Amino acid sequence: MIRTIAIANQKGGVGKTTTAVNLSASMAAHQRRVLLIDVDPQGNATMGAGINKNGIEQSVYTVLLGEAGLIDARVKAQGGFDLIPANRELAGAEIEMVSMPDRETKLKDAIHTLKAAIDAVADQYDYIFIDCPPTLNLLTLNALCAADSVLIPMQCEYYALEGLSDLVQTLRKLQQQLNPDLVIEGLLRTMYDNRMSLSQQVAAQLEQHFGDKLFKTVIPRNVRLAEAPSHGLPALLLDKASKGAQAYMALAEELIAKHEVAVTHG
Ligand code: ATP
Ligand code: MG
Repeated sequence: MIRTIAIANQKGGVGKTTTAVNLSASMAAHQRRVLLIDVDPQGNATMGAGINKNGIEQSVYTVLLGEAGLIDARVKAQGGFDLIPANRELAGAEIEMVSMPDRETKLKDAIHTLKAAIDAVADQYDYIFIDCPPTLNLLTLNALCAADSVLIPMQCEYYALEGLSDLVQTLRKLQQQLNPDLVIEGLLRTMYDNRMSLSQQVAAQLEQHFGDKLFKTVIPRNVRLAEAPSHGLPALLLDKASKGAQAYMALAEELIAKHEVAVTHG
């Protein structure tokens, strides 16, 4: 069964893109068929997956404007998964999508564009990940309307919880009005530094607060994860043994165990 997971947090720099690219590669390493959709005009997931964002012909932009399907826009990424790339052009999509006449219905349609595009390729993938921008705009809404669940990366630092209530509130509204089936897949602790007591404290605090909504896997601060994007590679391909690559392999296994156990046992 296909599972579409949006990776979102309106807080910037918390590890959304790092998670999107490395989790995609780890799932692919486990022989799962993966599509990663970059819906951030920064195009970081695109570059991190080894695709030059300035050299692409089709992108998620053309998909959102209804000019192409996901099949036309997808490319093979480094790491054994498919990618729908994005670049700065996407920043204009939000305006273009709703600037047509009949704004009300257009907006409604526009919000569900990505969902419709995903439905058309659903039989070709096991997991679809969507890397969201650090904002709660129409692009993020599209992702959240298309998703079964949302994975929220959180940096293990003092302000980790700040903004989280905004996000939870937005998710609640979205559930009520647009996507009643959306669930929180889990909160993921990222950039964890076990030499820092603050990191430990925050990680423990998150555990108290969120209990079973928290992934058991914790992503450590690891230089390979930071270096990998400049090589256009997931960390798994740059240095398989690195702590960062191994942590994302563990996260993939945690997700697989969660969603596929029922399938394996009939
Ligand atoms: P944005 O909100 O701008 O989209 P983001 O939430 O996608 O940011 P990333 O781009 O994944 O965050 O990470 C921010 C920076 O931190 C990047 O330079 C990335 O390489 C680095 N980084 C992310 N995770 C780790 C980690 N576990 N260890 C070391 N560096 C990391
Ligand atoms: Mg990002």
